Amino acid sequence: MIPSPTPAQRPVSPVQRLWRHPLWAPLNDVQAWNRLARVLNPAWSFTESTARVLRVVDEAPGVRSLWLRPNRRFAGFRPGQHVLLELEINGARQARCFSFSHAPRPDGLVRLTIKAKPEGPVSAAAHRLQPGQVLRLGRAQETSSRDATIRRC
Ligand SMILES: Cc1cc2nc3c(=O)[nH]c(=O)nc-3n(C[C@H](O)[C@H](O)[C@H](O)COP(=O)(O)OP(=O)(O)OC[C@H]3O[C@@H](n4cnc5c(N)ncnc54)[C@H](O)[C@@H]3O)c2cc1C
Repeated sequence: MIPSPTPAQRPVSPVQRLWRHPLWAPLNDVQAWNRLARVLNPAWSFTESTARVLRVVDEAPGVRSLWLRPNRRFAGFRPGQHVLLELEINGARQARCFSFSHAPRPDGLVRLTIKAKPEGPVSAAAHRLQPGQVLRLGRAQETSSRDATIRRC
């Protein structure tokens, strides 16, 4: 299968080129809009999938489920898929893959069930999350996906 072009490889139209001109800055700076949106609501983003923690449930010693409400950028998932969960730890973004542990629901909530690994930074940080906090989600992906545009675990 031919891999689909990454965003950087896609052809740019003349209108897009004009809009990207520094003349329009900061209006054409999507990261500036993201920063503004985050000030208003940490879960808002024009480009990134984020999710707010609604509930944490202790399933067993060292195993905790996070119930999350993704924002509108999140495109959903199918059973058996996993997602890249990204957390800011000591000022640096770190990401690990986690499987969806509940079937897709009509209300759009998702559940991840995470086992704390000794000395594991992301699983430990995930266990410290509290309701109301916001995290970043990648695009749901198949474990065997060959899509070159998605980040690996
Ligand atoms: C497709 C997929 C789905 C997954 N689904 C789930 C899921 O549903 N639930 C779940 O809990 N996990 C799942 N995982 C595993 C998850 O992605 C993480 O690997 C796991 O949570 C550990 O992340 P961490 O950052 O806490 O630890 P990591 O940094 O990944 O470290 C893991 C372990 O390695 C040891 N280690 C790390 N660095 C070193 C080093 N330099 N020297 C010696 N030891 C070291 C640490 O002590 C730690 O115990 C999945 C993984 C994949 C690939």
